[in-house]
Amino acid sequence: MADIRRTPGGLPIVRIADSQGRLHDYTLAVVVRPVARWSCRLIRLGASGEVAAEYLVQHWPHGNWTCTCPDFRMRRRKLGRPCKHVCAVADVHGFLGAFTDG
Ligand SMILES: [Zn+2]
Repeated sequence: MADIRRTPGGLPIVRIADSQGRLHDYTLAVVVRPVARWSCRLIRLGASGEVAAEYLVQHWPHGNWTCTCPDFRMRRRKLGRPCKHVCAVADVHGFLGAFTDG
């Protein structure tokens, strides 16, 4: 399960490990009226809480996931695997779906 927590200000944060195992905090915001079936904006926070990177993770009607990070394009082409952002957001999406499906 994705590691979800909140900032003192109440923003949802998901903690994602990079390929070296270092943990990074990302704010998580569901996109209202997305082009895809479901979209989520991830903002990676730097050490002082500044915006270090921003990615859009999308779930498309035919079932596949995409991310705007460079790693996603490289991994999908070379390895046929999604990036860590897709893995974390798909996990969160599945968790939310447990409350809303059926
Ligand atoms: Zn990504």
